[in-house]
Amino acid sequence: MTNYGLVIDQERCIGCQACAVSCKQENNVPMGQFWNRVLTEGGDKIDTPSGGYPEDGGSGSLDMEYQPTACQHCENAPCVKVCPVNATYTRDDGIVEIDYDKCIGCRYCMAACPYNARVFNWDEPEQMPEEGTGDVAARPQGVVEKCTFCSHRVDEGLDPACVVNCPADARIFGDLDDEGSTVSKYINEYETDQLLEDRGTDPKTHYISGEMSPGRPQTSDKMESELDDVSPWSDGTEDVPSEAGGSDSSGSGGSHHSIEGDADPHVPAVGSGGDD
Ligand code: SF4
Ligand code: SF4
Repeated sequence: MTNYGLVIDQERCIGCQACAVSCKQENNVPMGQFWNRVLTEGGDKIDTPSGGYPEDGGSGSLDMEYQPTACQHCENAPCVKVCPVNATYTRDDGIVEIDYDKCIGCRYCMAACPYNARVFNWDEPEQMPEEGTGDVAARPQGVVEKCTFCSHRVDEGLDPACVVNCPADARIFGDLDDEGSTVSKYINEYETDQLLEDRGTDPKTHYISGEMSPGRPQTSDKMESELDDVSPWSDGTEDVPSEAGGSDSSGSGGSHHSIEGDADPHVPAVGSGGDD
């Protein structure tokens, strides 16, 4: 059975917040709310590094990493268990959703979620621009909302907006129960962690740290069909540049390649915000 999950390569993440912004746009997330946040791991304040600045010609020891975080779509989701009206539920494909018509705003789920992934609409949600941006209807005042893995896009065979719009290829989405999927290969190939594993929630977001992956190979499996539409190289009639998009910072030779080593270039998802 399909069981969707996400891999985030923290070694590739550059903290640009494109995932957070594209999530807000795609899902009409209200002003002041974020479903997808990018945390800084470093100094004691946001966006500050740990370590020391270079002195006397030394190299210094500045260090800063980023940890994008959103709903982890836990296999064993405490938010689902505590919802008294079954407004929070897990879809057959593993995505944890909220039925906003059923939600009574009790916020038990917010208390139960160890990832601080949910937000509550205390006031009438404010959009900017007023009519909103994405295709997803705004949620009303008095309900809890959160990341849906862009289930409306997934249902259309598309990747979540944060995956498509990550310029660093740090996010890969796919079916965890399919051994041949890109996410499964990455989880098998690289050392990955889940957040707060000791809570027993079994999050479906896995983080690579320590060793940088080669980047999203032609994006995840489902996105390849989408790329066929926009790639100038997809029909094989034009030369394939040795370095596509210029977003590879891995030092792995400058070309993105699949985990199986095929030579297909990664093509940035041009105009991906408006393709659906
Ligand atoms: S869009 Fe990609 S690189 Fe930018 S903060 Fe999000 S995960 Fe990191
Ligand atoms: S991260 Fe929080 S909101 Fe998302 S499934 Fe897990 S417990 Fe529920």
